[in-house]
Amino acid sequence: MKAIVNTNVLYCQTLRRELVGARLLYVACCLLAFQAFFTSQADAQSLTARITIVSLSPARLKVEGERARGTKAWSFRNAYGSLLGLGERIENLSLKNASGANVVVRKLASGEYESESEAKRFSYEVNLSAPSVPTDLAHASWLAGERGFLMLGDLLPLVSDQGRNVSASIVGLDTPSGWTVATTETRRADGLFEVNKLEDAVLFVGQNLRKRNRTVGALNFTIAITGDWSFTDENVLSMAADILKEHATAVGGAMPKRAMLMLSPFPQKLGAERWAAETRGETVMILSGQSPSKVAALAQLSVPLTHELFHLWVPNALALDGEYDWFYEGFTLYQALRVGVKLQYLTFQDYLNALGRAFEIYQSVNDRDHFSLIEASKRRWSGAGSLVYQKSLMVAFLYDLTLRQISGGKRTLDDVYRSLFRYNTDGAARSDGNAAVLAALKSQDGMQDFTRRYIERASAIDLSTAIAPFGLTTQSLGAHTIVRVAGSLTRSQRDLLRKLGYNDRVGHA
Ligand SMILES: [Zn+2]
Repeated sequence: MKAIVNTNVLYCQTLRRELVGARLLYVACCLLAFQAFFTSQADAQSLTARITIVSLSPARLKVEGERARGTKAWSFRNAYGSLLGLGERIENLSLKNASGANVVVRKLASGEYESESEAKRFSYEVNLSAPSVPTDLAHASWLAGERGFLMLGDLLPLVSDQGRNVSASIVGLDTPSGWTVATTETRRADGLFEVNKLEDAVLFVGQNLRKRNRTVGALNFTIAITGDWSFTDENVLSMAADILKEHATAVGGAMPKRAMLMLSPFPQKLGAERWAAETRGETVMILSGQSPSKVAALAQLSVPLTHELFHLWVPNALALDGEYDWFYEGFTLYQALRVGVKLQYLTFQDYLNALGRAFEIYQSVNDRDHFSLIEASKRRWSGAGSLVYQKSLMVAFLYDLTLRQISGGKRTLDDVYRSLFRYNTDGAARSDGNAAVLAALKSQDGMQDFTRRYIERASAIDLSTAIAPFGLTTQSLGAHTIVRVAGSLTRSQRDLLRKLGYNDRVGHA
């Protein structure tokens, strides 16, 4: 019997971050010859740093390092998505110039500092207490108990290369004894990490941190897990591998070269329906509540896992920029649901229930039809988040079913992904995400008007009317909208729904 799955996918918070500049970060694990290391290598790097976990309770880090070029302006990440005030965690910043003399520094604002003269060397501490809101735990660094996530984007100074030709930054990490580190960053023989994109680098640290590796097609895939679960590490690895294969097929075969899933329990006790997740570069971070039932826990884990793993492709493997969040979040919600049903983590009714819930959330937004999805993406962090996720999920659903219907089942949303990946992956010049996705959606015969109406314009969605042609109907149950298969279906409606997982031979309740 299948567990009842809460398919609510709210805020995984994948971001298209503005590049602060090509930066290479060096996290050094070496306790020896630290000064010699800086002297010999600092010039080749935009930044070198050494991070030391100095205390677990309270959770504190010490960070020391050197920038390649002196500067008076010192910035640390203060805002990230809906998170604000991260810069307040930086404490006791002290700076020195190239000859080692102290330089006076003053704070201008949260995360913003200015020194009296140019400084190169830095030292500060970071308060790494876990954020109090559980969903924030996948979006900012923290340490709690025997584990934590170190996200270098909010731990190290923001560095701009200003067009200079710099190589990787270098980071060393000192952890308490018995702790291990999991990361996709390159670890050199001397234990130091070479980091190409500081904002994507994540170091998962902890006691009893377990790693397992598997090759999935061309992908070198690793899972890193802490905590005790009702499922085995192998269960997670197998589930992830199955999902990765489905995603690769959907986009036409493209596969990332390397990726890591980091799975951690929350620092506090939460049920399995609670999770927080983010995909950064090649790293998928998931925090999940726990359940004593293996079946229920795996079914729940499949919800964030199908969604986050798809982010390895969309947007992370696409050479696209700009605020097209409606697509890489809302359409990803839909794509993840389809894969969940296909791999039988979810039932067909779970898939319909997700649509009903999306409609309820959409209806609760006051100005839901004042913006197009493209405009809503610009307001994702100022009130339009539900539209970017839930209205867009409904639009993806309607797009897929409409395309299947008018093509007699020959074409699906996968054809849009294949078109996108044909023209916008590695090697392609970076281009505007909205323009590229709209072009791909409109490239399917008969879908131009749909795309204009539901994506480019601020059109309302009348769910009952919109889904009736597919043999689906809505039912109000108190405050809830339930989507069900209609009592009688035409042959083509039945064929369409069967391809999406409807099994009328055993009933569909
Ligand atoms: Zn997401």
